[in-house]
Parts: sequence; C-alpha cells; structure tokens
Amino acid sequence: MSLAGKTAIITGSNSGIGLGIARELARAGADVVLNSFTDRDEDHQLAADLGAEFGVSARYIGADMSNAAACRGLVETAGRCDILVNNAGIQHVAAIDAFPLDKWDAIIAINLSSAFHTTAVALPMMRAAGWGRIVNIASAHGLTASPFKSAYVAAKHGVVGLTKTTALETAQEAITCNAICPGYVLTPLVEAQIPDQMKTHNMGRDEVIAKVMLERQPSRAFATTEQLGGTTVFLCSDAAAQITGTTISVDGGWTAL
Ligand code: NAD
Repeated sequence: MSLAGKTAIITGSNSGIGLGIARELARAGADVVLNSFTDRDEDHQLAADLGAEFGVSARYIGADMSNAAACRGLVETAGRCDILVNNAGIQHVAAIDAFPLDKWDAIIAINLSSAFHTTAVALPMMRAAGWGRIVNIASAHGLTASPFKSAYVAAKHGVVGLTKTTALETAQEAITCNAICPGYVLTPLVEAQIPDQMKTHNMGRDEVIAKVMLERQPSRAFATTEQLGGTTVFLCSDAAAQITGTTISVDGGWTAL
C-alpha cells in the first residue's frame, strides 16, 4: 500500500501513539504534518528526522488543540489534508463530585471538540481532492467505562458518535471516517507510571504490568504504537474503502469481556 502523494495531519504527534502513527504513515509514503502545543526546536527537528528517515516531506506545526481557532488554523496552515488523524488527548482521574472544572473543560476540548474543528476544515479539502480518510483515536473507554474517568469516558464516547456522524455525512463520497479504540498502549506516559506503581504495590515491574495495569486487558500485553500505526495505514488502504463509521478495537480483548 503506497500513500505517496497524500498528506497526513496527525494531532498530538510529538510522542506516543501519534508519533507511532505518523511513522507508519510516513513508512507507507505519506507526507506528514506533526503537531503538539509545544512548538520547540526539538519538535521541528523530530519532523525533519522523520522526513529524512522515510524520504517524505515532514513538517511540524505547533497548535494548541484546546483552542478552537488553533485547531482550525492547524489544518488551514497545512494547506492540504488527505488523511486526518485526531489523536491529541489528555487524562485526569478524579471522582465526579471532586472533578476539577478546568480539567473537565480541557479534556472535552482536547479529546473531543478538537476533532470536530479539524474535521470541519479538512472535509472541504478532502472533497476538493476527491479522496479522504479520517481516523479518530478513541479508546476502549469510547465503548466502556471506568470509575473516576468521567470526562475522558464522556469525551471518548463522544468521539465515537462524531465518527459515526462524519461517516454518514460522507458515505457517498470517497471519504471514510473510523475510530480506533486502543486498550493500554506502552507510551512514555504509561511507562512513567510504572515505577510509582511498583512502589505503591510493592511489586516488580512485570507483576505491576500484569496484575495492576493490564488487569482489564485479557492478553496481559500492551498494544504497541506500531500496531496502531499499522491499523491506521490499513484504514487508509483501498481494502478499507467500504469500512466507515465503525470502531476497531486494538485492546487485547478488553471489550470482549
Ligand atoms: P501521550 O501523552 O504520549 O501523547 C499525547 C499527545 O497529545 C502528545 O503529543 C501531546 O503533546 C499532545 N497534546 C496534549 N495536549 C495537547 C494540546 N492541548 N494540543 C496539542 N497537542 C496536545 O499520550 P498517548 O498515550 O500517546 O495518547 C494519544 C491518544 O491515544 C490520546 O487521545 C489518548 O486518549 C489515546 N489513548 C491512549 C491509550 C494508552 O494506553 N496510552 C489508550 C487508549 C487511548
């Protein structure tokens, strides 16, 4: 599958899943636009290195996905968008009656509303090009819930709803929109939690991973950023042209329970 000649915008892609997806799209030949809110020299260098590694054009555009105008500006600045991957996301864990209002607002803005704003600007570009793929990174928490994650679960269920609506509005065009629902993925964010969990539970690394972190993931193995990138490339392929408005779980069996 060659994605040569396509431009992919991946929100929240200077680390973790977003970077893994950008790498697999670039490996498949797509030009990529990396994004985060930071806009540091190293972010631009990351894009330059990725472009050199895969022989594609790679740019970094800083834009804060909590801000509606910045979300729209990201796609406008890129100027072309054949593949849109809405990946930026944050988490906060607290009981509903103690959930900080600013955290609720930030999670809804970054994890849900940003996908609406980028999609709204990308769709006319995809229609002009006569082809498009939108991949929304939801979560197992887009299909099921956990306590103390009200904003995250609400936002991710919202992403699944937005995915279905986008698919219906584009159903008769060469544009698809799907959501990927990862279980636990070993990103730097998750890796950083392991030492604390080892101390709290007085367990070794493997025991913490299997018994604490992956307790709800029947495979007892993390999904990888490469696997999520591969799933995204598949959704961009011709084989996936009739797959639209659906969710694909990459969760080691979590949502089969
Ligand atoms: P991460 O923290 O490694 O990456 C998050 C990315 O979003 C980073 O690039 C960060 O810079 C960016 N970001 C955060 N706030 C932003 C903002 N305001 N504007 C622009 N960019 C911003 O986390 P990750 O684990 O790679 O998560 C990526 C996505 O995958 C998120 O939507 C997350 O909910 C989802 N997800 C992760 C897991 C997991 O286990 N890691 C599981 C299911 C779903």
